[in-house]
Formats: sequence, structure tokens, C-alpha cells
Amino acid sequence: MNYFPVFFDLKAQKVLVVGGGDVALRKVSLLERTGAAITVVAPQFAPELLERAAAGKLTLAVREFAAGDLDGARLVIVATSHRAVNRWIAQLSESRAIPVNVVDDGEASRFIVPAIIDRDPVLVAISTSGASPVLARRLRERIEAAIPKRIGELALWLRALRDATRRRLRDTNERRRFFEALVDGPAARRFVDGDTHGARRLAQQLLARTSTARRAAGEVTLVGAGPGDPELLTLKALRALQDADVILHDRLVSDAVLDLARRDAARICVGKAAGSVGSTQAEINALLIDLANQGKRVVRLKGGDPFVFGRGGEELEALAAARINFSVVPGITAAAGCAAYAGIPLTHRDHAHSVTFVTGHAREQGMEPDWRALAMPGATIVFYMGLARLEYIVEKLLEHGAPARRPAGIVAQGTTSNQRVITATLADICDASCGANMESPALLIVGDVVALHGALAWFDTGGAQIDLSQTA
Ligand code: SAH
Repeated sequence: MNYFPVFFDLKAQKVLVVGGGDVALRKVSLLERTGAAITVVAPQFAPELLERAAAGKLTLAVREFAAGDLDGARLVIVATSHRAVNRWIAQLSESRAIPVNVVDDGEASRFIVPAIIDRDPVLVAISTSGASPVLARRLRERIEAAIPKRIGELALWLRALRDATRRRLRDTNERRRFFEALVDGPAARRFVDGDTHGARRLAQQLLARTSTARRAAGEVTLVGAGPGDPELLTLKALRALQDADVILHDRLVSDAVLDLARRDAARICVGKAAGSVGSTQAEINALLIDLANQGKRVVRLKGGDPFVFGRGGEELEALAAARINFSVVPGITAAAGCAAYAGIPLTHRDHAHSVTFVTGHAREQGMEPDWRALAMPGATIVFYMGLARLEYIVEKLLEHGAPARRPAGIVAQGTTSNQRVITATLADICDASCGANMESPALLIVGDVVALHGALAWFDTGGAQIDLSQTA
């Protein structure tokens, strides 16, 4: 992050604007709304600035800028038409530690001014850190279209309700839930539609119901986070993440997905990474039960789908035994995500009549898969967690009659911007994997459908990108 976003209370604070043209006028118009004490310095002024000064809204100094103008200023905005002058004033401000903005000169500025949507007291500020004003404007238009016209009035109403609820609902979680129900429900909708009386009545009912209800029981939602691309989350998963009090996630869950969670939800990583000490399954189960018993809304977030090699079943058994309420939100499992993003149709009917998901991970004295069945023709086999035992898997398949020329591929970090795909045959997939330095998480896919990757690959994270930067 190049900039720290803040909202600055400028009431009665001295703000110095240097420059008297239209650009300065635009900045002054915005500043006026904050109640700042504005001083504008310039040898000449646009007529409108003179009018405002005459009306007593700002102080004008009709002359060139002098260093003393900075005395007592909390912010400085520089908008003369001379770049060198602008930069000199910026330097002076810097040397006195006064935040300065030079209009259209990000490099010389200590702070920059975002694109805004002003529905007082709701203020939305958008910045691309100066990368693209056009993009910022487009974003603003989109957000503007998505928020109700009366959002400002709604905020004022909610503020007024805060005192009333503080008396009736003592618990902060209860209060939060009341406001969530209010904002997400029919009361807020009526309010922004203009039916203020209807909204008040619904809010009263909701408050009465909340204050007499017993403390809400906690619950656990087992959520599939998909293979990595955050846009592959389901709508239900997104909602669960937004409603959560606590999120327990695996190491496999990407930061991009976690970024979509409610900001003040507590996050606990319970994943096991090779070589590090992670939580044991028993510890995770106990933590889930404990948090739910505290009345928390717990999201147990797992990579891919929670029921595909995710131990989701074991966790639910523990919850059921402890009589904790739970629900499950499925996710896109790695096989489906990686196959889609690698252009490998798992059951293309010209090549495969079935697909099998197998773990490549050996369980202690565990069951061996039925290698003979896996080696049969006309089937697609997807090995999860198979990279570490790649050689063993290939050897077993060959030993049980799979032909050496059967196509095999590896997809690593599928669906993410780091996705890598290699395809080969059973005979040379091990060498290819070593040569390409493939790393976990990765899937091994074996079957004739893998050969379709050549024609159907569409998601290209490297190589053939269009590079427009040279033309700029
Ligand atoms: N529940 C998960 C699987 C957990 S087991 C699911 O449904 O996808 C972990 C294994 O999943 C990894 O070893 C790897 O084989 C596979 N995997 C998960 N995410 C992956 C990704 N983005 N790309 C490739 N393989 C992935």
C-alpha cells in the first residue's frame, strides 16, 4: 500500500491554497464543505474566488506566495500553473512537515486526493494511487449506481438508533446483530425508499424481538474456499465470510479469499505446513466446539471442497457429538478448478467414461488404491497430494498395465495467477516434473483427456501476454 487512507477533520483548521485559477477554485469548493479556514494566495484570482472572499467564506492574499504563508497551516494544496514554483512550495511544506498536495503532480505530493462520492455523512473515497484517474472515475460511477440515493439519511438514522439500542441491548455482539438485521432487512429498504414510518415500526419490532430473545446459540459453517481464485467462491461462501465472528482456515486458503472476510472477524490459521507444528485434528475440533459454545458464528474455511480430502466429515462428526449446529457450503474442488483452468475436460466423452479422485498421500498402514482399476483404459484419474510420491504412483500404474504413452499432466497452484501446467506421458512425467520444478499444491491428472490441453488451454499466466507498456 503506497498510501494510508484517512478522513481528516478540518473544521476551523487553516488550509492554505496557493493559486487563483479554476483548479484552485475546484479544490476550494470541496474544502468549503469541511468547514476549514481557507486562505488562498495568488497575484490574480478567478472572479468566483473573489465573490466567495467578499461573502466572507475565505481569506485572500493578493500577492505572490511567501514562506510565512505556511505558518499555522494543517494542509497545503498547490495549484499554480508553474511546475517549478509548485515544487518549491511543496519542498518548503515538506521541510516544515506540513502535508502537501500538488495538483496533478503525485511525485511532489505528500498526500493525494481521492475520487469521492459524497452522501454526507457517508463518504466513499476511491484511489488508484495515482495510477489511473479514469479507472478511479469508472469505479466511482459503478459504486454510485450501486448505493441508494438516501444512504446518507440512512446513516443518520442508524446513528440516532445507536443510543436507543445501547440502553436495550447490553451485549456488543447482540447490538451488532441487531444492526446487521436492520441494514440487511426490510427496515433499511423501506427507509431508503422513503417509507420512514414503516421503517421505524419495523425497527421497533426487531429491537423488541432481539432484546427478549435468548442469547443466540453459536454455530459452525463448514465452507469450501475453492482452489485459489477468489471469484470461484460461491455466493453463500461469501455471505458466510461476511457474517463470521471467527474464521478458522487452512494454510491452503489464499489471502485473496481471506481478504473478502468481514474485517473484524478473528482469523485463526490452523493449517499444517510441512516442517512446522500445526494444530492436530483433535485440537481443531475442540476449538470449533469451544468457540461455538461461546455463541460465536464460526466459519471453518477449507481449500477446495470441504468433503473432498478435506477432513470436513471428521469435524462434523465431532460437532454433531457436541450438539453444535452446523451447515456446509460446498466449494469447487481442486480437480474441477484445475481441470477447467488447464483446458482438460475430465470426462470428454470421446476419451473417458469416468473420473476418479484419489489421494496420493499414503496413510499409515493405510489402504492401497486398486491400482489395476486405476490403470484401466477410458478413465481419468486425478491424484490429490500426489507430487511427493509421483514416481511411486507412475510405477504402480505401469506395473498394473497402463501404457507408457498414456497422457499425464500436472497442474500446480491451479486457478491462481501462479498456475503452471505441464503435460507429458506416464513414461516421462517424472522427468518433466523435475525439469519444470513443479511445486505443491499440485494435482496429477492421468488419462487421454490430458492431451486435449494442447488445443483447449485458455488461461495463460505467463508467456503470451500482450505488453502495452512499451507503447506508453
Ligand atoms: N479439499 C481440497 C483438497 C485438500 S487436499 C479440495 O477439494 O480441493 C490438498 C491437495 O489439493 C493438494 O496437495 C493438491 O493436490 C490439491 N490442491 C488444492 N488446491 C490446489 C491448487 N490450487 N492447484 C493444484 N492442486 C491443488
